[in-house]
Amino acid sequence: MLLHPRLLLLPIVSGYPPPSGSFRLLLFSAGKKTPSPFLPRSCSFSTKAQVAASAPLEIDDSISPRIVEEGAQVQIPFDRLFVPPGVDFAGAADAASARVLRGSNIVLGPYAHDAQISTADFVKSSTKTEDCPSDGIPEFALVGRSNVGKSSLLNSIVRRKRLALTSKKPGKTQCINHFRINDSWYLVDLPGYGYAAAPQELRVNWDDFTKSYFLNRATLVSVFLLIDGSIPAKKIDLEYASWLGQNQIPMTIIFTKCDKRKKKKNGGKRPEEHVEDFQKLISEYFQEAPPWIMTSSVTNQGRDEILLHMAQLRNYWLKH
Ligand code: GDP
Repeated sequence: MLLHPRLLLLPIVSGYPPPSGSFRLLLFSAGKKTPSPFLPRSCSFSTKAQVAASAPLEIDDSISPRIVEEGAQVQIPFDRLFVPPGVDFAGAADAASARVLRGSNIVLGPYAHDAQISTADFVKSSTKTEDCPSDGIPEFALVGRSNVGKSSLLNSIVRRKRLALTSKKPGKTQCINHFRINDSWYLVDLPGYGYAAAPQELRVNWDDFTKSYFLNRATLVSVFLLIDGSIPAKKIDLEYASWLGQNQIPMTIIFTKCDKRKKKKNGGKRPEEHVEDFQKLISEYFQEAPPWIMTSSVTNQGRDEILLHMAQLRNYWLKH
């Protein structure tokens, strides 16, 4: 897959003044093989990990990657970049040469290797944290409002058409579903929240058991909170994000459906603006900007970036 570089114009908002200026950074695709003309030479992007992340496996032929819009540009103050653990980052000087994953605020570091997925297997459904697999390998949990596109994203990440169907089977929707990847880490599918049709009592129970999982699961490297990037943020999403922030649970925000760009239907805003708005709304709950990635399961935007992000968090976690 070769996606064209895309730069997003994200204005610096008053709530986030950069300490001493801001940096215009090129956000580029993990699949891109040639250095961008916008980047200093030192920023050419052709690491082994990126190639690996794009390697085909069980390709879902119904998904045909589209070339995404070109020419947008991002302006992110360096204090809003997410610098993964294991990266020396002193500030302005380092930001100028930072390699940032396309469609995200995530700096690429030395741990971003082994991002390729070669096997993905459903392991088990658990109703309690204590029943989850106990082999001690790292995991990432996907959570989001019902209909946010969680199943589609899970299938897109593992390049399978129907892996996430397992989580949608009757009796499994309220469970913690573990999928073992490459026999070395887990993707965990958590119940969707805010499902209007569920009785209030049931909703509260879901909250209780997912929150217990977040607070007690020692092998949880990061929660991936899915937010619909095509519409304004919902109250329940903000509540979820603030709860994670206040409880200091590591969180990555995954903005879904970023291919949907119809202006009028979504209140006149583009996904980039929703991304910006959401960050402003949650900023008070986080000392440092949480990592975020814009994705689409239709175009596969963000898939390789998610894998590289997971790889660098995971590899660091394993070494420390
Ligand atoms: P879940 O309930 O969170 O698992 O959501 P699903 O993956 O079942 O998706 C809900 C709806 O959103 C379905 O109609 C999907 O086709 C649609 N959808 C999911 N991801 C995307 C996306 O990236 N772009 C667009 N345009 N639609 C999506």
